Amino acid sequence: MRVKCVICDTINQLIDDSPQAKKLRNRPIHTYMCDPCHERIEQRTNARLATGHFGFYKSSRKIEEEF
Ligand SMILES: [Zn+2]
Repeated sequence: MRVKCVICDTINQLIDDSPQAKKLRNRPIHTYMCDPCHERIEQRTNARLATGHFGFYKSSRKIEEEF
């Protein structure tokens, strides 16, 4: 199946039987992120988590809005 990264608009081809493809089929297509973007978001999230408890809830909401 063809999927489009929501962040950088890269079109990727997923193997239909792969776990990722199955997961995406059960969710809206716009939740797909390519690997480089996924890593970038993950690093940013971890960096924010590392800053401590203060503003944690607020930060996670902000990340969700960016999606
Ligand atoms: Zn991307």
